Amino acid sequence: MTFHVVALFPSAFDSYLGESILKRAIEDKKVKVVFYNPRDYAYDKWNRIDQKPYGGGPGMVIQALPVARAIERAKKAAGRKKAKIIFFSPSGKQFDTPYAKKIAKSYDHIICVCGRYEGIDARVRRMFTMDEVSVGPYVLTGGELPAMIVMDSISRQVEGVLGNYDSREEERIASPDVYTRPEVVTYKSKNYRVPKVLLSGHRARIDEWKKGRMKPRG
Ligand code: SAH
Repeated sequence: MTFHVVALFPSAFDSYLGESILKRAIEDKKVKVVFYNPRDYAYDKWNRIDQKPYGGGPGMVIQALPVARAIERAKKAAGRKKAKIIFFSPSGKQFDTPYAKKIAKSYDHIICVCGRYEGIDARVRRMFTMDEVSVGPYVLTGGELPAMIVMDSISRQVEGVLGNYDSREEERIASPDVYTRPEVVTYKSKNYRVPKVLLSGHRARIDEWKKGRMKPRG
């Protein structure tokens, strides 16, 4: 799975991609991440890509062409393989696990387009076929975190990324409450015990208990 990330601040990704499961997935070549900075496709020699919004209002807008050129470059890198383009916007469709699964199954190349400031000139949305995706009902300062959320969630669906493919909890009975050693935790002279059923070794009863704890999910 290759993620092509169009972003103004690519180093924002370093710490998260450099740890734990995603780090290993990249080392094992199950996942690849390539960056395209619209600044490298700017018009002027100062590499400026933001301008004041037409119609007035606060903040700056990212120009259409530097972003379009970056997307074009990413599409070229994907080659003849079909690439899904995801355009991050707080007013997009809510991202969820069923969507992550569908994308992971149907595409080997995903192009993530991250905005900043007041967003990207709306004409870019007319230049490409893209899914407009929101990661939740809140506004962030940029599309970098949304891209990381989507990359993390889709990577989990790629075989070999999780140590055990079956550990994808949406595929099994998984309680949101989990326990590990020791059996009794003493904190401020109070004892906290593991639910008895989990110590019973009784598979069916344990699954029944887990089901009872589960919340609906994708
Ligand atoms: N005034 C603009 C602010 C854009 S936020 C507006 O209300 O639309 C700047 C960028 O952050 C966006 O272009 C988008 O790429 C990203 N972003 C912010 N919140 C997001 C969210 N909830 N989901 C996905 N992307 C988001």
